[in-house]
Amino acid sequence: MNNPLDLEHVIASTREILAQLLVVSADEIDEHSSIVEDLGADSLDIVDLSFQLGRQYGCTLPKTSVLDHAVAVCGDAGEFLANGRITDSGKALLEQSLSAYTPEQLQAGMQPAQVFAATTVRNWANQCRNLFNYLPANCPDCGAHQAVLNDRQQVVCGACSARLVPADGDEVSRQLVEQFVATHVQETV
Ligand SMILES: [Zn+2]
Repeated sequence: MNNPLDLEHVIASTREILAQLLVVSADEIDEHSSIVEDLGADSLDIVDLSFQLGRQYGCTLPKTSVLDHAVAVCGDAGEFLANGRITDSGKALLEQSLSAYTPEQLQAGMQPAQVFAATTVRNWANQCRNLFNYLPANCPDCGAHQAVLNDRQQVVCGACSARLVPADGDEVSRQLVEQFVATHVQETV
């Protein structure tokens, strides 16, 4: 099914959730603000953000980082990390992840903690929005093909209005790593 979610709307929701969590005005939160470095969110705030975004839109965001999925898929992170720092492949993998890091955001040589600290409001919104690229092929209730937004901006079936739930965030994240490894890594072996 199609993804009807609008990134700008998800960015606005992410800013509102963060404003409540961090007790600041949403106006003070730019989409390019880094959640940890600029806004000072701690790990509990981030767990809360993930939970609340998922609850609002009806999805489960990944709990495990992309690089940890890469370790799980490959058995080690050798292709993506060297001496604890991301490689060019690691950077490319992160750019193709749900969070859709831009080429300017990351450099080879960053530590995973620096990547985490540089993650922006927009990355979080992308992660949520892009997860809805992984809706079921048909509505589980009526079999229709079209997804739409209801008046609360939730993703529902265009025919029967049932809420539509995308695949689990960690499942998708792992699949994206597997695809990346299949298409990129073997070319260089
Ligand atoms: Zn339906």
